[in-house]
Order: sequence, then structure tokens, then C-alpha cells
Amino acid sequence: MIGTEKAGTATKGYATHGPDAKFEPFNFIRRDVGPNDILIDIQYCGVCHSDIHQAKNEWPDTMPATYPMVPGHEIVGRVAQVGGEVTKFKLGDTAGIGCFIDSCRECEPCKSGVEQFCQKGCAMTYNGTEMDRVTRTYGGYSNKYVTDENYALKVNATGDLSGVAPLLCAGITTYSPLRRFNVGPGKRVGVVGLGGLGHMGVKLAASMGADVTVLSTSPGKEPDAKALGANNFVVTREPENLAPLAWSFDFILDTVSADHDLNPYLGLLKINGTMVVVGAPKKPAEIPAFSLIWGNHGLAGSAIGGIPETQEMLDYCAANNITADVEVITPDRIEEAYDRTLKSDVRYRFVIDMQNA
Ligand code: NAP
Ligand code: ZN
Repeated sequence: MIGTEKAGTATKGYATHGPDAKFEPFNFIRRDVGPNDILIDIQYCGVCHSDIHQAKNEWPDTMPATYPMVPGHEIVGRVAQVGGEVTKFKLGDTAGIGCFIDSCRECEPCKSGVEQFCQKGCAMTYNGTEMDRVTRTYGGYSNKYVTDENYALKVNATGDLSGVAPLLCAGITTYSPLRRFNVGPGKRVGVVGLGGLGHMGVKLAASMGADVTVLSTSPGKEPDAKALGANNFVVTREPENLAPLAWSFDFILDTVSADHDLNPYLGLLKINGTMVVVGAPKKPAEIPAFSLIWGNHGLAGSAIGGIPETQEMLDYCAANNITADVEVITPDRIEEAYDRTLKSDVRYRFVIDMQNA
């Protein structure tokens, strides 16, 4: 057993011990439930491509891997214990946890609800530390999580929760830029890459009334793209397919996880159009100035979302019946899920059932 306290909450998880290691059962202790904390019995945890990047130490400069690593930041479960001063949750409520579980609460970003940009550095849900900078954090590939109630989300969805878990990262990461760039009726939106984030981007943009085109390397995903709400599907492997789309999009969301050239997509923007990059490949992008200058094109980025906007997104999804399309797996299939995600063979999010872990 690894942990800093003698008491605490015995937790069963699944950890990787190195960039090429396989996942193994890993028992550890989470902290005792403090006055402002809740204990969540995790039901489902999504498998985000960021889990794969970190487990394989593909972001050594920005988020170096620390092992043993228990990934997982798309977490839903039932509140099983509440601290004495908790007001937001009661026993039996459904709660969610996303990519971070604490922040300084005093800096400008924290005060304005974009805690992911905490100037002291927020406490990541895994592969990081609590704000004490000592206690290591372990993620949602586990059966319990203890967190401050202010960093947990209220989940009002009823029924099967497996499709709700991915909203905690894939949902908010796509919702936030769509809102920031006023995507809605009359707007033409391109979504590059139809994976976990991409399929949420399509569902959300379509629900907001936009005309959505999927730009994909996988011809076989066309029927799904249409079923998810896209009006148009274009295979990007043949460059000539992109020519008719030049100057046609108000907004493009690039969700691709692998190294790729952004310039062909910038060329598809209308005058004053913007492309937002949310995918985080290893290799830096190379952008000639004219890709931006010609057409007044904007290139922007977006990172998850703060607690208030994540709650807004969950409430929006509950009101509009939006969940992720998921393939539920048992924890012994994490390797297979990683392999298939790397091959773009995910329809459209693997979610681990942690209830019998
Ligand atoms: P995913 O499920 O693996 O989807 C990525 C999609 O990219 C694939 O399904 C595939 O779609 C496309 N793709 C893969 N390889 C490609 C290649 N060589 N060339 C072109 N397209 C390719 O991954 P995800 O979980 O959605 O995550 C996507 C990226 O976003 C990752 O880099 C992840 O780390 C990042 N992310 C960022 C944030 C943020 O806050 N900014 C949050 C979460 C995740 P097609 O088959 O349709 O081509
Ligand atoms: Zn994620």
C-alpha cells in the first residue's frame, strides 16, 4: 500500500509503471474525508487520449510522467461520504470530476472561474500533486476519489451514466471554444478528427444549430458522422477533396491527437474565420505567416474549461439529452482500448466500468 496517511480510504486502481509498461492492479490510500470533501464511489471513467499521451510520457516538457500513474479524468460516480461542512452534495448524489481537483482559489483566474489557469498551477486529477505539492494525485482508473466539493461537478443526468463520464473532459473541451466563438445557427463549422473530442464537437455544434462538416482520415466513419449530426463528411487523405471547401468555414475545431499539418485547414477558413486547436500532438506546428495573414485568419487554442463552465456544459447536455457514444470495458481491457484509440478505432470513447474493480 502506498499513501501518506495511516488511516484514509483504501482504493483499488490500475496503474502503469513506465512508458511501455502494461497496466496492473494498484492499491493505494486516498486521504480521509475532510470537512469540505466528498468521497465518490466511481462508476465510470472515460479513456481520453491525454491519458495515453501522459502514460507514454509523450509530453515530457509540459506534463512529464510520474510513475506509478493511475490515469483518468472523466469521472462519474455516487457520493458515498460527505464532510461536515459540505453543502453542494448529499449522500447518493451523482458527482463528476474532470481534469483538476484543486487550485489556489486566490489568483485572478481562480476568482474568475478559469481555475485550469491558476497562476500557482492547479492540482491535476492525476500525474500531479495536491496543492501541497507533495501528495501525489491518482486518477479515475480506480474505484474511489476524495475531493473538495468545490472541484466536483453536480450531475443531474438520470439513467445510464457511462455516456456522461466523457463530458467531464471531451465535453467541456469542445463546448468551451464553441461558446467562445459564438457557434450557432448560420455558422459553418468544420471538426477535424472524429474521435472522443471530435464526436462531442459534432454533437454539440449541431445541437447549437451550426452546419457541421467532419474532416476525417477514416472513410468508414461517414455514416456515424451523419448520425451524430454532421451535414457533410470529407475524407482528408486526398488533398483534392479539400479544394471545394476553400474559404467556407466560420470556425474549425482541430481535435487531432497525432502530428499533422494545420495549414491545409487554415486555408478552409472564411475571411475572419478562426481555427481552434484542442488536440495536443507531440510535434510543434509550423505555420507560415501567410496562412494567417491571407484572409485575416485566427488560430487559437483552448484548454478544458473552468468549474462554472463545466457545470453549465453538464446542465446543457442534460437539458438537450447529449451524452457521449461509448464502448464500456472492464479494467482488464485498458491496453486494448489504448491500442484501438491509437489506431483511430474508437466509436467514440472507451469508458471503464469501475464498479466491480
Ligand atoms: P482520439 O479519440 O484518439 O481522437 C483523435 C482523432 O484524431 C482520431 O479518431 C482520428 O480521427 C484523428 N487522427 C488520428 N491520427 C491522425 C493522423 N495521423 N492524422 C490525422 N488525423 C488523425 O483522441 P481524443 O481523446 O479525442 O483527444 C484528441 C486530442 O485532444 C489529444 O491530443 C488529446 O490529448 C487532446 N486533448 C486536449 C484537451 C484540451 O484541453 N485542449 C483536452 C482533452 C484532450 P479520424 O479517424 O476522423 O481522422
Ligand atoms: Zn481528457
